[in-house]
Amino acid sequence: MADTSPIDYFFQRNREMIAAGTRVNTVIRGRMKRYLDSRGFLEINPVIISPISDPLNHPVDDPTFSYYGHQYRLTKSMIFHKQLALIHFDKIYSFSPNIRIEPLERKNTGRHLAEFTQLDLEVKGKGREFVMDLAEGMINDSIASVRASAEHDKLNPHIREYSRPFRRVKYVDALSKHGKNFESILSSEANEPFWVIDIPLEEREFYDREKDDEKGVLMDMDLIYPYGYGEAISGGEREYEYERILSRIEKKGQRREDFALLLEASKRGIPPSAGFGIGIERFVRFLTGSESISDVVLFPKEIGRFVL
Ligand code: AMP
Ligand code: MG
Repeated sequence: MADTSPIDYFFQRNREMIAAGTRVNTVIRGRMKRYLDSRGFLEINPVIISPISDPLNHPVDDPTFSYYGHQYRLTKSMIFHKQLALIHFDKIYSFSPNIRIEPLERKNTGRHLAEFTQLDLEVKGKGREFVMDLAEGMINDSIASVRASAEHDKLNPHIREYSRPFRRVKYVDALSKHGKNFESILSSEANEPFWVIDIPLEEREFYDREKDDEKGVLMDMDLIYPYGYGEAISGGEREYEYERILSRIEKKGQRREDFALLLEASKRGIPPSAGFGIGIERFVRFLTGSESISDVVLFPKEIGRFVL
């Protein structure tokens, strides 16, 4: 498979699904932009290369290259740039291309690509509740818009606007009831999206904020799609104070030198914030009810495959 010509592969693909996916993608991007713009958000341009990017909580291939003598990386998420943007603005978002050369084990999950887009947003001085409410409203609004669009006959027949607030499940409760595989078990059983909240510190990156009243537990959340489509969103409140960021980097066994620029900025003052990222291609997959994320993407960077 891996050595099929990328051109052969491109010409063999299902044109109808790509067309439906691309149109739904256009509708929801426009609608989500409108949703956020009308609530006072500013769209910032995506950052593609930088000396600093998201460390992620799972290993990916992370190539670096020389940029005028400095070591640069491709963006895995805009988390740190979002936090820094809030020095200038109160509410920001970006349609941010992310490169994550994911492990080969993720090849057949149906929801991983090596290149994807996050609608990544961050709000100054607000907490988790604020951004969860915003996410719920934005998802329902996008669903309403695609159902009213010319693409309505290409959609997953199960989707509808969901009653709010969406259900919340605490990570520890889900884990003790269903075991390690709880996310896919609960996602398959569900017919409405639901939140997993209060994720343990060791399961997430250092930048999600630890609860003040519950050590080792984060003020963060994942949104999970129903019908087995899995994770839609990750987000939370953020660490922004120098000492706390440093201690979390060290707890993770990461090197403070790798985050020297973030640490320097936090000494000068990064504002408190909360935010999240929603994977656009995964949302399109859910809305169209497609088996695989790559079916609805024009140039999918499939894990492990030689593609355009
Ligand atoms: P994360 O912060 O790593 O959870 O990423 C934020 C969101 O981006 C996830 O909730 C997914 O919707 C999406 N996402 C993450 N990794 C991938 C991937 N490899 N392919 C497609 N979408 C992804
Ligand atoms: Mg996640």
